[in-house]
Amino acid sequence: MSDALPDVTDLGHGIGVIPLPLPFRSPSFVNAYVVQGDDRTVLIDCGVDTDAGRTRLIEGLSILGGDPVHIDTLIVSHLHPDHVGMAPRLTSEFGWTLLMHRRAGTLWERYNDTAGLETRTRHLAQRHGVPSPMIDPISSLGGRPSYMPMLHAPDVLVGDGDHIELGGGRTLEVLHTPGHEQAHICLRDSLTGILFSGDHVLPRITPVIMFDEQVDDVLGDYLTSLNRLIALDIGLTYPAHGHIVERGTARCEQIVLHHDRRLSGMLDIVRLGPRTAWTVMEEAYRPHLTPLEQRLALRETVSHLEHLRFDAQVGRFEENGVLWYRT
Ligand SMILES: [Zn+2]
Repeated sequence: MSDALPDVTDLGHGIGVIPLPLPFRSPSFVNAYVVQGDDRTVLIDCGVDTDAGRTRLIEGLSILGGDPVHIDTLIVSHLHPDHVGMAPRLTSEFGWTLLMHRRAGTLWERYNDTAGLETRTRHLAQRHGVPSPMIDPISSLGGRPSYMPMLHAPDVLVGDGDHIELGGGRTLEVLHTPGHEQAHICLRDSLTGILFSGDHVLPRITPVIMFDEQVDDVLGDYLTSLNRLIALDIGLTYPAHGHIVERGTARCEQIVLHHDRRLSGMLDIVRLGPRTAWTVMEEAYRPHLTPLEQRLALRETVSHLEHLRFDAQVGRFEENGVLWYRT
């Protein structure tokens, strides 16, 4: 993904996009979308909390011919800091209502619990065979980043199939698409049929599907959510990162294929003999990952191995507190 921040653009039909800078190399920006109906205007996603992000957002709104007072609701696609990070600042500064999927009604507390995430990651690393000297670098987060201040409970919770009314008959239909994150939603615009896909469907990169201790088969949830969009035959898709996807269904099919390949690659590795998730990760991913990349890759490896186990393609046994997978 290129480092240059794309322009603020009026996409027509009352939709504008404001790419906001992120303090990461990839993805380097997040797309905030403004959607205007006859009665109200909403913003979808808001980026991390930085002065640069706030300045760009206000600038972007003015380029699109609006300002913060025209917006009444901030809809957030899911509970990751590059989407919800600036929500506390914006909702308190401008009085916007924060709307999310109902699972965020409890998960926001977990989002605030940085120490808890560290503890869970350490436990996961120990259980899945990470060598002792690697456990600290993989699980320590070095404190809570300033770009993700503490969140409050969302003001409005929605469920799958709900319609967010924008006036004049225009609605955004909520599609609950768990996988990348439990509370993830996509939104379908009744006026244009365009899908705001959050991180569920992205161009060029695939969202990381990380093992989640609260979910039995997180990859299964993700694939089910993708197949649902394929069945809906989605077309024009506006993602949270990168550029517009013309054929949403085709992109969903590519992502399903990507995971099929990764699953069969990991199955082949486990067929060679019992493996921990750590050793599968070392064999399945490119070498020389940073500790952060290792943390993500380990969680993604576990989500794939657990999916294979859920599918009865691999088994699991425990030895001295460490989990091993075998066929
Ligand atoms: Zn994201």
